[in-house]
Amino acid sequence: MDAAILLIGDEEFCNPLLDLIQTIKTLAIQTLADPLEAMPLILAQQPELVLVQAVQEQSLALCGQIKAESRLAWIYCTVVEDQDRSSPATELERRASALEAGADAYLYLPQGIAAAVRDSQRLLQAQIRVGLRQVQTYRELMHTNDVLSAIALSDPLTSLNNRRAFEWELPRQIQNARSRSIPLSVIMLDVDFFKAINDTYGHLTGDQMLKFLAARLRHNLRIYDTPFRYGGEEFVIILSNTDAPEAMRIAARLCQLVSEQPFAVDEQLDLTITISAGTATLQPSDDAQGFELLHRADQYLLQAKAQGRNQVVGYKAE
Ligand code: GH3
Ligand code: MG
Ligand code: MG
Repeated sequence: MDAAILLIGDEEFCNPLLDLIQTIKTLAIQTLADPLEAMPLILAQQPELVLVQAVQEQSLALCGQIKAESRLAWIYCTVVEDQDRSSPATELERRASALEAGADAYLYLPQGIAAAVRDSQRLLQAQIRVGLRQVQTYRELMHTNDVLSAIALSDPLTSLNNRRAFEWELPRQIQNARSRSIPLSVIMLDVDFFKAINDTYGHLTGDQMLKFLAARLRHNLRIYDTPFRYGGEEFVIILSNTDAPEAMRIAARLCQLVSEQPFAVDEQLDLTITISAGTATLQPSDDAQGFELLHRADQYLLQAKAQGRNQVVGYKAE
């Protein structure tokens, strides 16, 4: 089954529709009598289509509830008016009410659903296919969106998240840290004398070294600490729930892990590099975007370079 449909209405409504929908082979069908019981089922099963009998007011309210829930809003809701009720509202008024309430489509079948299934089978099938088409288009768009987001946020060389991802993530982490009153630190690190690697061994070897370094960083961090390629041979790591002394310890460990074991570029060539790092920890006065936090880490990184490289600098009292 490629898609699921939920029919909500009494037996007189659901039974003829069941026969009709069974002719559409790709649809799994479920029925429910009471619209008031529908929301938990819809949340759990997320059917592609909902066809609801317009007998009770709750039917229209249900469409509104579905559309108000952002993770369900793509569900295609059709309201079916299947009786000629002696209501003063005209067909147009009822249609307007259904669409205003959140329905995607409104079918007026005053002669009853059984007669409609008998006489207007093509129309009903077409209406169901419109819904399926719409949901499928939505799904394809969401998939494309996911692929594009992954491309936009990832660095193609190292497969780490890129600077754009970092700029999106840091304010979120700051907000989270502040709302939960937990510390947050960042490490900014830069490869020492990397230009010399390129100049001596060529850019391809330089690229290879950046890939190796990124992998070593990733494998030596806790799962919830995220490394980003900030640009060139510069990386930044967000350390959630980490205070200043712990950030210093993590940065020192990374420096050591990089410097003490060479990277095997190929069978003939083992290369050792070192990194310098600056660490900073979120302060109450820091801006919500993280500019000041990052600026401090960058300043400490410059100090680490000036003091001789292959070392970490961070404000001791942070
Ligand atoms: P320092 O210790 O002061 O950081 O010295 P450095 O040589 O690392 O710094 P510098 O800024 O002079 O040089 C950085 C080099 O990194 C120059 C640039 O060509 C190289 N680089 C940046 N991105 C890439 C990349 O994606 N691939 C390769 N192969 N090289 C890169
Ligand atoms: Mg460098
Ligand atoms: Mg640099």
